[in-house]
Amino acid sequence: MSVYVVGHKNPDTDSIASAIVTAYLLNKWREKGCGLLKIDEEAVPAKQGEPNPETAFALETFGVSVPETVTDVEGKKVVLVDHSELTQAPENLDKAELLGIVDHHKIGDVTTPNPILFVNFPVGCTGTVLKLLFDWTGVEIPKEMAGLMLSAILSDTVIFKSATTTELDKKVAEELAKIAGVDDITKFGIELKAKLSAVDNLSAREIILRDFKDFNMSGNKVGVGQIELVDLNLIKDRIDEIYEEMKKMKEEGGYHSVFLMLTDIMKEGTELLVVTDDPSIVEKAFGVKLEGKSVWLDGVMSRKKQVVPPLEKAFS
Ligand code: MG
Ligand code: MG
Ligand code: MG
Repeated sequence: MSVYVVGHKNPDTDSIASAIVTAYLLNKWREKGCGLLKIDEEAVPAKQGEPNPETAFALETFGVSVPETVTDVEGKKVVLVDHSELTQAPENLDKAELLGIVDHHKIGDVTTPNPILFVNFPVGCTGTVLKLLFDWTGVEIPKEMAGLMLSAILSDTVIFKSATTTELDKKVAEELAKIAGVDDITKFGIELKAKLSAVDNLSAREIILRDFKDFNMSGNKVGVGQIELVDLNLIKDRIDEIYEEMKKMKEEGGYHSVFLMLTDIMKEGTELLVVTDDPSIVEKAFGVKLEGKSVWLDGVMSRKKQVVPPLEKAFS
């Protein structure tokens, strides 16, 4: 029997990197008899979907292999990273034994009958939380683990530009960069993020689903996707096609609303594409009237901090 460490559906770099790093840390805690969670079995990292090109680049750069895929955890022991929402968790979590959660989001709807390891800081990345757990429990950070945590931080904080970024993320990233042998953090961050800007070979559905999360907002099924680009012009010609696909997804999935954030990393804002039963929700949430397919939200780069909370409020 193993303990599976798994991140959210439609995995991003943090979800996959943090699963690998958490499994490493749990195994060190077991070997050394230290740490915050005692496990008797081997911790194994898992993913719920294929790594995106950014994640693949990070794994390749630091020579770490791709974890196995686990989408159903019935009868398994589980640690969740980078989420605590049932909609984002593996199937049959209620029939699994949940041992821990390491995260940096709002607390979701996962509950447990027993006490668990639950570490959640309002910082920019699960990688930041994990670095602190290494330090606190006296576990040395190998080069490749440092590289993965650094990649996750640069990815989640959009090279420290996202509103979710904290001073702690920056400090931790600098320490990790030293261990990982990364001299120029910004340069590495741009190289990493640019991997996600290549959307030519993706279908409209793949673009929408690349980083897509489902939420239950006051009983309404709401999907919010995000794609981060170094330049929105890269996707300009495909907006109509993507919008039609969002309409299809809304019908098929029984959504109240489907949102897609087209985030421009350099301009630091988001073109929000919207398909909804109630267009007034956009004005309620963001103070901008939805007239066409989308609205421009200046300075908005974070789904977690700048899009989901106002939407939840508008729905409540
Ligand atoms: Mg994530
Ligand atoms: Mg994250
Ligand atoms: Mg993210």
